[in-house]
Amino acid sequence: MVQAVVALGGNLGDVARTFRLARTLTERHEQVQSVEAAGLYRSTAMGAAAGAEFCNSAWLVETSLEPLDLLNLLQQIENELGRTRDVHWGPRMLDLDLIFYGEEKIASQRLTVPHPHCWYRRFVLTPIENLLPDFRHPVLELSIRELCERLQSTPFRLALGSASEKVQPLECVVSEFPGIETTNVTSPQDFDLADVSLAVWFGESDAVALHPLWLAAPIANAEQFLRDTLTAACTELSSVSKTL
Ligand code: AMP
Repeated sequence: MVQAVVALGGNLGDVARTFRLARTLTERHEQVQSVEAAGLYRSTAMGAAAGAEFCNSAWLVETSLEPLDLLNLLQQIENELGRTRDVHWGPRMLDLDLIFYGEEKIASQRLTVPHPHCWYRRFVLTPIENLLPDFRHPVLELSIRELCERLQSTPFRLALGSASEKVQPLECVVSEFPGIETTNVTSPQDFDLADVSLAVWFGESDAVALHPLWLAAPIANAEQFLRDTLTAACTELSSVSKTL
C-alpha cells in the first residue's frame, strides 16, 4: 500500500457535489483502500482564461495502484464527471492532480511526481497541510507546513532575476499584490534562498536548474507568468467547510 496525495480543483457547477462524487468513484476501485478528504477551500482563479473563483481540496489515498494506473483512474473520473480540456487553464468541473506518490520521484512523459508546481501554490498546499502537515516534499526536503510558512510570511519576500535584457521590469506586476518585498538578483549561484518566500528566475541558468527552490520561468510572457505565479503563491484561501 502506498499513500498518495491528490489535489482537487473546480469552478463550474456544484463543485462540492462533484468532489463528493469523485471520491465515491475513487473509493469504488478495488485497489483503493481509503480516501481521506481535507476540507473545502475557495481560491482566486489563476490565468487570464480561468473564470470564476475555484474550490479546492485534497485527498490522502491509500492504494496498491501503480502511479500511472492511479493517474489513469483520476483522468477517467475527470472525464466521467464532465471535464473538457478545450481551454488550457480554462474553467473546469473537476481537476485531479497527483501531487505525491509516497516518497517517489517520477519524471516520465505522462507523469511528474512530486507535481512540479505544487510547492508554490497555496491552493494546492493549504488543503494538503490540513491532512499531512509534517509530510516532507521528497525533492525539496521541506515539510508541507514549512512550504506553507514560506508563502505566508509577512512581508512576502520575492527574489527576482533574469538571464535576459528582454524581460521588462516587472515592478508593475508585483505592485498588484500588497505586502511584497522584492530583491533583484543578478547572480543566482551567490544568492541565499534560506529566508525567501519565492525566487523566480526568467531564462536559462545552470545554478537555477540545480537548485529546486528556484522557480525557472519562461522569458516569453514574463508578466503573465509572474502574475499567475503570485496569484497562486500570495493569495490567501478562504475555508468554506471543514469536511466535504
Ligand atoms: P491538466 O489538464 O492541467 O490537469 O494536465 C494534465 C496533463 O498533465 C496530463 O497529460 C497528464 O499526463 C500530465 N501530468 C503530468 N504530471 C501529472 C501529475 N502529477 N498529475 C496530473 N497530471 C499530470
